[in-house]
Amino acid sequence: MNSSQRAQQTARSEAAYHAARQLLPGGVNSPVRAFRAVGGTPRYIARGEGALLIDVDGNEYIDYVASWGPLILGHGHQGVLDAIAGVMRAGISFGAPTELETRLAELVVQALPSVEMVRFVNSGTEATMSAVRLARAATGRTLIIKCEGCYHGHVDALLARAGSGATTFGTPSSPGVPASVVSQTLLVPYNDRTSMGRIFEEHGSQIAALLVEPVAGNMGCIPPADGYLPGLRELCDTYGALLVFDEVITGFRVSYGGAQSRYGVMPDLTCLGKVIGGGLPVGAYGGRRDLMVQLAPLGPVYQAGTLSGNPLAMAAGVATLRALQQPGVYDQLEQLASRLGQGLARAARQAGVSTWQSRVGSMMGVFFAARPVADYDAAMTSDTQAYAKFFHAMLNRGVYLAPSQFECLFVSTAHTEDQIDRTIAAAEEAFAEAESA
Ligand SMILES: *Cc1c(COP(=O)(O)O)cnc(C)c1O
Repeated sequence: MNSSQRAQQTARSEAAYHAARQLLPGGVNSPVRAFRAVGGTPRYIARGEGALLIDVDGNEYIDYVASWGPLILGHGHQGVLDAIAGVMRAGISFGAPTELETRLAELVVQALPSVEMVRFVNSGTEATMSAVRLARAATGRTLIIKCEGCYHGHVDALLARAGSGATTFGTPSSPGVPASVVSQTLLVPYNDRTSMGRIFEEHGSQIAALLVEPVAGNMGCIPPADGYLPGLRELCDTYGALLVFDEVITGFRVSYGGAQSRYGVMPDLTCLGKVIGGGLPVGAYGGRRDLMVQLAPLGPVYQAGTLSGNPLAMAAGVATLRALQQPGVYDQLEQLASRLGQGLARAARQAGVSTWQSRVGSMMGVFFAARPVADYDAAMTSDTQAYAKFFHAMLNRGVYLAPSQFECLFVSTAHTEDQIDRTIAAAEEAFAEAESA
C-alpha cells in the first residue's frame, strides 16, 4: 500500500474542533493554529515525545513546528521536566524575587555579547512592546522603523505591514489599531539597504529605534543579505537611533549567542522569547546597561508584570540553556538540519517542483517560488495552494509542518537521522502530489 493511501483517523480532532469553536473564536487561542492557510481540521494534540507529536486520535507526527520554536530540545526533555518539577514543589509563584531569575539572567548575559542587563516578561510581544517604550524614552524620539514582513508580536505600533513603497507611513494591519498609533511606524522592505538609507535621510533625527529580525522568521525563513546587518548598525550610529534585534526566534537558535554572535553585529537592545522559556511563557529584553537602568524602579520608564520571572518558567529556561551549553549541540543541530535541507531540495528537484529553500542553522523554510526570496514581496509571490497540498500530503504521511508557508521549520536535538530520512521520503511523494492535480 502506498503510504499516501493510508487513511488517517481524525474523528476525535474534528469533534474537539467543533466543541472549541463554540467557545473560542475560531476554536483557537492563536490564529494560525486553526489551519486557515491550508484548510482542513487542526489536529488536537494529546502529547509530545521527543520529536514526535501524538494527536487525540492516536496519529503520530514528526514535529517541525516545535511549539513555534521554543522546543529546541524536543518534547518532554528530561532535564527540563525535572527542573520544573523540582521548583514546582516549592511553590509556583510568589511575586517576590527568587534566585532563579538571577541565574537565568546570568546565562543570558553570558551568552549574548550585547546584553549587560535583562528584564524578564511573559511573551515576545511584551518584550518588543517594552523595548520600543524604552527606546523612545532613552532617545526622546517617537518614530520606529520596522521591516515589511517582520513580526514583532501583536503590539499595536508594530502591527503595520507593507504600505506602498519604502517611504510610506504605516497603515494598520488589523482593525482596532488606531492609524495615529502606526503613523509613528515607518515601513521598509527587508534586506533593502538603499530604502533604509533613504528613510534615515528623511526622518533620521526623529527615529528612536530600528527594529528588525536579524534572520526573518515570520515570512518564511529569510536570511539577511551579506552586509545588511552591519549596514543597519552603521545607519543607527550615524543618526543616533537604537538598533533593536528581535531575537525571539533566533536567540539560542541560530547559535548559542543568537544572530548577533553568528553575524557579529551588536544591537543596543535585544528581544528574546521562545527558546529562553523552554516551552513555558517567557520573554525578555536586555541590552546596554545605560539603557536598562532607565527602567523602573531605577529609572522613570515603567514596565511591570504580575507573573514575570515566574519560577517554573525561569527553571525551564535555565535547564534549557544549560542543555544547550553541552559541547556539540549546535553541530548536531546543524548536521540534522543540513541533512533535512539537502534532502528536501533533492526531493523537490526530483518532483520537478520549483522551490526556494533557505536555512540558518536549525531554522529553515520552503517557499513554493520560482525565484530567490529575499523580502516580503518576493515571499508573497509563493504558491500558497501548492503549499497547502504539500502540507496535507506531509501531514497524512506523519510529518507535522507549520500550517502556513510563511513560518519556519525547526529542527530539535530530539530529531534522529532516521526521522529526518523518513521526512525526506515523505517529501518525495508529497512534492509530486503538490505538483499534480
Ligand atoms: C513569536 C515572535 C514574537 C512574539 O512572541 P509571543 O511570545 O508570541 O508574543 C515576537 N517576535 C518574533 C520575531 C517572533 O517570532
